Amino acid sequence: MKLKDLQQAAFDANVEIVEHKLVLLTWGNASAYDTDLGVMAIKPSGVSYDILKPSDMVLVDVETGEVIEGGLRPSSDTPTHLEIYRGFPNTGGVVHTHSHYATCAAQARRDIMCLGTTHADNFYGDIPVTRQLTPEEIGQDYEANTGKVIVETFQERGIDPGYVPGVIVCSHGPFAWGNSHQKAVENAVVLEEAARMMVHTSLLTGELIPLQKELLDKHFLRKHGVNAYYGQEDGSS
Ligand SMILES: [Zn+2]
Repeated sequence: MKLKDLQQAAFDANVEIVEHKLVLLTWGNASAYDTDLGVMAIKPSGVSYDILKPSDMVLVDVETGEVIEGGLRPSSDTPTHLEIYRGFPNTGGVVHTHSHYATCAAQARRDIMCLGTTHADNFYGDIPVTRQLTPEEIGQDYEANTGKVIVETFQERGIDPGYVPGVIVCSHGPFAWGNSHQKAVENAVVLEEAARMMVHTSLLTGELIPLQKELLDKHFLRKHGVNAYYGQEDGSS
């Protein structure tokens, strides 16, 4: 992939999260990563969406964290994106938003429970909430530590980030990812909808009932497992 195409991919993802109504003001950022180049393109810091251009996307070396091109400062959440790319192999896109219902789950410090097949089509089980950061982790390298606590959550709970491509950062909000920038956007949309459904389901029943294991397996694995058969060969469903 050329660097220009990578910038275009990151730009498209940033526009799409606004179109999907996941972002108010500038409370969101998306990046795209090319593993062969070892470079990610990310939204610049604090630039209003209506004047954003593909060439504004800042190119960052994922190994060193250095900006390799672009006159603008990268998003302040850049170190979090870098930790996700470093910790979760095969990730081609990362999306961070403060989408409403997922952020409510972050503030309530609860996992987005897998309650139905809508959730299970993209996430193989509950979407975890991280632990809170320590005062030291907040005081220094806050954004990098946010990424580290995301990776730690998946390691400690034995969750495969390829199977559960999203997380709720405690008291903050959601991050979602995927093997492409398009998939990262889709997972961010489904994550928000799953959170919204969980909140409304909890109004109807005192106790939330986890999705039946057989339905979880059926819905996730028919799309993502080794014997996946759902959709067209080009990936459309
Ligand atoms: Zn944030």
